Order: sequence, then C-alpha cells, then structure tokens
Amino acid sequence: MTFARDPNNDDAAADCHIDTWACADDCDVRSFSLVRQCDVRGLLHCHTDYAGGAHPLRSIVDTARALELDYLGVTDKAKIDDADEGLCLEGIAYQRSEIRELNEEFKDLVLLHGIEVEAAVDGSLPLPDHVLDEFDYVVATLKDDHGLDAAGFTARALRVIMNPFVNILGHPCGDWMTTCSGVPLDLETILTAAAKAEVAVEIDANPCHVDLDWTHCAKAQEYGVTLIIASDAHRAARLADYRHGVELARQAGLCCRQILNTRPLDDVRAFFNR
Ligand SMILES: [Zn+2]
Repeated sequence: MTFARDPNNDDAAADCHIDTWACADDCDVRSFSLVRQCDVRGLLHCHTDYAGGAHPLRSIVDTARALELDYLGVTDKAKIDDADEGLCLEGIAYQRSEIRELNEEFKDLVLLHGIEVEAAVDGSLPLPDHVLDEFDYVVATLKDDHGLDAAGFTARALRVIMNPFVNILGHPCGDWMTTCSGVPLDLETILTAAAKAEVAVEIDANPCHVDLDWTHCAKAQEYGVTLIIASDAHRAARLADYRHGVELARQAGLCCRQILNTRPLDDVRAFFNR
C-alpha cells in the first residue's frame, strides 16, 4: 500500500515541488498550491457494519491508521423508516461509546462521530435537532431525487443548506453523475448558498458516485465554497479512494485552502462549530 502522507514516497515526491500558484497576498504558500495526496490529513465520510458498511469500525480504524490519517469521521446512515438498515437511536449511542473507547486506545488517530442523513423530499432531515446536535458534524445527502425537477431539487438542497445542524452537503448532484448527463439543479444557487452558510460541499470520490465532477469543483472554488474530499467508503480498503478525489480536485485547480480535510483537526472542529 502506498501511504498517503509520506512526502518521501515516489508518487508524492513527484507532486510536491511543483504547482505553486503565484500569490499576491502575504500568506502560506502551501495554501495556494494544488492539493496533493499527502496534504489530506483526515477523512470525513465512511461507513461501518453498524449500518450498511462491510467492515467493523475497528477494521476501518486500522486502515485509517495505515494510511497515516490524523483523523477519521465515521458517518453511518441514519435510519429513516422501519425497512431501512440505518442507525437507530440505540445504535447511535452504542457506536458513540465504541468511538470513545477507540479514541482512548489510539493516540495517532482521532475519531469523530458524524452521521449521514438523507434529506426528505421537502429538504427536512429524519432526526430531531437535539439528536443531530450530539454529533461532531452532520453530512446531509440528496441521493434520492424523488422525481423532482431542477427547481424542486434546488429548493430541497437550499433547505438542507440552511439547516443550522448541517455541516456538509454530500452527494450534491444527487449521485447521478455516473448515470445521467447534465445536472438537474441550479448549481450556482446552491454553491452561493453553501459558501454563505459555511456548509462544506463534498467531492464524493467513491468510483460509483464521482459527484461533483471537476467542472463543478472549479465552479465551487470560484464561488468560495469550502470542499471536502471524501472516499465515502463502505469497505475498509476503499478509504484510499479519496485519491481519486485528489486527482479530480487537481484537474479543477483546487488549492489546499479550499479543502477542509487538508486542515488540522482543530481547524476542522472550528469549522463545524462555527
Ligand atoms: Zn455515504
């Protein structure tokens, strides 16, 4: 396995000395360089066998440590109805206690407890505010299009973004990039709202999703949106898929300063606690 954070490995070293953008401001040169694999300090979207993932949390943690990540956010899906395999309240509490134990056991990786919630057709979320408030952060998704047209889908996304408990907009194009051409939403409106609300927008690097594509990423940078590069892993080994997102971000010309999970953990927490 090629480790992501080792600047001495051949892949990373080949990246590391180039791509510095000219900068008129008096600020960190690194923040104006194209993002590299070795810049990614943590991942904020993955799944365990608590709810739909293939592997137990400990296996995910072992892989994250092998990748030399500083932090990992666990974001299993919230249960929506009785037929759904997502986390119920009891499962949430149990998972939180396991995360607490693992954080005490390992000092080289910090686990965050997040949750992925699929927005309803009207943009509301399936968990009450007091439950959402107990997570380190909330990833709201728009995976199911509910047959909405562009205006309806955009209005739904805007309600999600305006929810004060939402920190990350996941699957921002509705997970359609691999199956449909065109994006049935007003992306400019959504990106403008996300930048204003300080909601990060996800580059979902899961090869089955590839949502946003690089043209959307470039537009997000233009609008000043904070992005995350997410592997959305459902298996431990798939955590490494964030690298596809790095390549996509580089194609879009994204700098580290645009990408939340290139920042230290304290800065990530501060963003979530804004
Ligand atoms: Zn997910």
